Amino acid sequence: MQEAKALFQKLKIVSLLDLALLFPSSYDNTTLSNRINKGESHVFDAIVKEVSSFNGKLRVVFDISDLNISLNSMFFRVTPYHYKLFTVGTRHYIQGRVDEYRGELQMNQPKSLKRVGDIVPKYSTAIKESSMRSLIEHYISEQMLYSEGLENREVAVIMGLHYPKTIEQVSSPDSEALKFIEAFNHMKKLKGKRADFPALMSLTGDINPFVKNLPFVLTNEQLMVIDEVQEDLKRNDRASKRLIIGDVGSGKTMIILAAAMMAYPQKSILMAPTSLLAMQIYEEAQKFLPSTINLALVKQSKSEGDYLTADFIIGTHAILFKDDMPNAPLVMVDEQHRFGTKQRALLENMMTNDERKPHFLQLSATPIPRTQAMMQSELIDVSLITTTPFDKDISTEVVGKENFRRLLEEMKNEIAQKHQVLIIYPLVEESKEIPYQSLDEGRGFWEKRFKHVYVTHGKDKKKEEVLIEFREKGDILLATTVVEVGISLPRLTLIVIVGAERLGLATLHQLRGRVGRLGLKSWCYLFTNNKKNGRLESFTQTESGFEIAKLDLKFRNSGDILDGTVQSGMQFKWLDLAEDERIVQVAKGRVKHS
Ligand code: ADP
Ligand code: MG
Repeated sequence: MQEAKALFQKLKIVSLLDLALLFPSSYDNTTLSNRINKGESHVFDAIVKEVSSFNGKLRVVFDISDLNISLNSMFFRVTPYHYKLFTVGTRHYIQGRVDEYRGELQMNQPKSLKRVGDIVPKYSTAIKESSMRSLIEHYISEQMLYSEGLENREVAVIMGLHYPKTIEQVSSPDSEALKFIEAFNHMKKLKGKRADFPALMSLTGDINPFVKNLPFVLTNEQLMVIDEVQEDLKRNDRASKRLIIGDVGSGKTMIILAAAMMAYPQKSILMAPTSLLAMQIYEEAQKFLPSTINLALVKQSKSEGDYLTADFIIGTHAILFKDDMPNAPLVMVDEQHRFGTKQRALLENMMTNDERKPHFLQLSATPIPRTQAMMQSELIDVSLITTTPFDKDISTEVVGKENFRRLLEEMKNEIAQKHQVLIIYPLVEESKEIPYQSLDEGRGFWEKRFKHVYVTHGKDKKKEEVLIEFREKGDILLATTVVEVGISLPRLTLIVIVGAERLGLATLHQLRGRVGRLGLKSWCYLFTNNKKNGRLESFTQTESGFEIAKLDLKFRNSGDILDGTVQSGMQFKWLDLAEDERIVQVAKGRVKHS
């Protein structure tokens, strides 16, 4: 088909299985009925028994011999055609809704059909119905479905929905098979998008000098991921593309440092989203890496070390603007979701040489459900870190105004123990739309009652300085959600999130991750005007980011208002990412062999 490509574009689809999954929105069922359900549409084999007209309306009485009944029909929009068509004794296939009127069955304004016995699909898509129909007829066949990698059961459900023979095929389709097809199609597309390139070089540096000198032992998961990275980096026929996903505090920096060791004596570069984070990793590198590894910190202002000669360069996006950045066969991006795709690609491309690309590791603190990770790994290898090195001990509670006095006491208690408190406000300035105090309205209260109160927010130019000073000297930090970025405040043990129900679970989880980073007993209070909130309640029950990613999916489907931080982009009609792990697993196996 000539114009198929344009039609595919209009339908926003890219694969034949995408098309196969665009099922009819309804069906015109012209199979003859052998019983009557009032209120539903039926088709009968009928003979005209009586015809009369009055007030411009036409009244026809049909005999339905199959059912041994007669049926009244009124025609309100009458044309001469109707009189010609319905003469006494003629036989018709009539179609329409059957209702009961004054104790009698009637079918008003029935259609007279030329033929019966079909279940005709109706498509409502972005293109003309006739075009859609010809696309389907042209492309969707058993042969095509088999050659796309589907098997009997899946082929049957698709054929049944586009070319139904019985009404059962469309009224209760095989949903397991549909889930499978969705997962399979999605992964096949991702696999098709993956392009691999040879690496600049194989990196096999010894990580022992680093691992042996750590003041703690790495967790099993950290070791496993380090293994995976080692397997990646030692190849030179394929540049690594790996996304390492681990909750806040799961110890991802150790993976970064280990990877820099693998690269040594070659160079590696790490890009972090804020200078504070870059500094933090730089400090950890200084602390934990052997001194043979020369470090440099690159920021817009105040760089440290000499990046021209350094072995491991850590920096912000300022790296992207240095045209004398040395070539490095390993690049890494921390908190990768804080960067745009372009910035990440730019870093990779800076190091690309002809067809050879650097090994590329990305780290993310946004947990995704395991099913989603399994699917995603068709495009990019995924490692999950699901445990944290410390057992965090955080109590989470939904609170309201009536609990405020107790909250205040607990804050004083924590501060007396040299711990710190964080209060998150929904916004900076007063707003009529939001039934909570803003940062500006709230700060006076705290400043009057406590000594070392610090304030910052997203647009605050000085926020990094404020955070650094707070880390050393502060008791209470008032902020908006800016602190979401992974800066470490080890003495933080109590967080209050005002208007918590307005935030997505992923955001709440990031915020909660700020407290108890080093295992200190901590508290997270979700302050709300309406404590009856199932979403918040279930959030208090779990601390696992992976569980929360699942909950987020569940509540997203239930239509809760969220702040847009949930993972978007994957929408399935049948597949449930929270539940269908087994199906995804099987589909993945099939994709591998297709
Ligand atoms: P993430 O980047 O995943 O949020 P970090 O790498 O910042 O987490 O680690 C959080 C804290 O845990 C840091 O202080 C780090 O030094 C420490 N840490 C990392 N791995 C371990 C471990 N295996 N045992 C004890 N502490 C660890
Ligand atoms: Mg980190």
